[in-house]
Amino acid sequence: MEMSGFSTIIPLAYLASAVLFILGIKRLSHPETAAGGNRLAAIGMLLAVIATLLESGLDYTWIIVGVAVGGLIGAVMARTVKMTAMPEMVAVFNGFGGAASGLVAVGEYLRVAGSAGGAETLAIDSGVSIMAGTLIGAVTFSGSMIAFGKLQGFVTGNAISNPLVKFSAGILLGFAVVLAVYLVGFESNLVFYWSLIAAALILGVLFVIPIGGADMPVVVALLNSYSGLAAASAGFVLENNALIISGALVGASGLILTGIMCRAMNRSLANVLFSAFGTTAATAGRAADGDRVATPIEAEDSAMVLGYASQVIFVPGYGLAVAQAQHRVRELADLLTERGVSVRYCVHPVAGRMPGHMNVLLAEANVPYEQLCEPEDVNPDMENIDVAVVVGANDVVNPLARDDPSSPIGGMPIIETDRAKTCIVIKRSLSVGYAGIDNPLFYLRNNRMFFGDASDALASITEEVKQL
Ligand code: NDP
Repeated sequence: MEMSGFSTIIPLAYLASAVLFILGIKRLSHPETAAGGNRLAAIGMLLAVIATLLESGLDYTWIIVGVAVGGLIGAVMARTVKMTAMPEMVAVFNGFGGAASGLVAVGEYLRVAGSAGGAETLAIDSGVSIMAGTLIGAVTFSGSMIAFGKLQGFVTGNAISNPLVKFSAGILLGFAVVLAVYLVGFESNLVFYWSLIAAALILGVLFVIPIGGADMPVVVALLNSYSGLAAASAGFVLENNALIISGALVGASGLILTGIMCRAMNRSLANVLFSAFGTTAATAGRAADGDRVATPIEAEDSAMVLGYASQVIFVPGYGLAVAQAQHRVRELADLLTERGVSVRYCVHPVAGRMPGHMNVLLAEANVPYEQLCEPEDVNPDMENIDVAVVVGANDVVNPLARDDPSSPIGGMPIIETDRAKTCIVIKRSLSVGYAGIDNPLFYLRNNRMFFGDASDALASITEEVKQL
């Protein structure tokens, strides 16, 4: 790409932006430094955008149109999206990221090979980058759209999660790779290239469609990693170092997040990708409800138990996000702390509907970081916890994960609130959580059910604690 008088400044600006991305990601690893890290990365992105705009030969008209239209859509989506719909939004963003990178590769192929199907042969390095960008970009796009559809509930994989899908995906992958190798090694051929794109798009669909709904967050994290690889490929195509580095960072961090989520569910990535977890679980365990009784509790008694406890943990879950009860839980926790109760919030890595979901909500309510803890900090000492208050969580406290290896969530580490002296579960009914399975915790002798919306329930308990 031709450079203007800025030819020395631009690579330096890209280098500086890459350093800012790396420092930003480093700081994102702790809640206290995360906001600063986000700002650093944003400054890095601004620098990279300015540097790109200073390159010569750009058509600013289309850039302005793109920024205006994209910016408007992005701003509206960011303003209107509900916190509970965040995973869907991330899935869509991953898809668009993959599509953008793929389109860079398509544009470059058409430019180099000649849009009329000329007999040019690609240079090996740019050829490999273009094919990788096309393949990964298209798989990421169609896979993310299916993930979005599954999270929204309008795509269900139950009917098609069979070995034939996996076999077809394998054949299609082989076909796509053969086409890509041909297109790099031999003269250009537009029919082959469009076939490669079609194969990659179908591959993305086949890759995601058999995966169970409960595993979608892991798939979204994996697709996030793919979108990074697609961006890095686009960076090679455009010979843009900032894009290569930022794409590699997204690729690596997405993969690390995927690993963390798999560990949090005690599953291997292969098991997540090939075992259709969560698609058949919706009815499991319901029949056993029969004669078991869940004991209800009201605000006054809850306040008594909590107000005179010495150690309390709050376990937030998806229902906390639905009820937007983060400020209410903080208010109650503060009141208890003032009374001399030791209060902690125990956050499960897959509580809610996206990685870090609970941490974001609790941070919004300014919960002190030192009160946050993880399951492994609390579980060994659970017998000494006087009251565990489960606020809109279900799967992450389900003892079946520990006690029944054949359960759909068997082996997933949980927060063992069933072993606390007293457990109070705040939710609206006895209905199931995301994995669709019954929860024996609700029927234990040391458990009480506080039926109601999490926000209203916490507010009424807080009022009663004030009266003590
Ligand atoms: P669950 O989805 O298991 O349970 C949430 C519970 O919240 C429901 O049983 C519901 O019961 C209750 N609830 C809903 N609305 C309210 C309300 N307004 N007030 C009070 N309670 C309410 O949540 P968990 O957080 O325990 O577990 C997360 C699950 O989601 C796991 O299976 C995880 O694998 C999966 N997942 C995780 C993602 C992540 O990245 N964190 C992303 C996607 C899925 P009721 O209707 O009776 O009120």
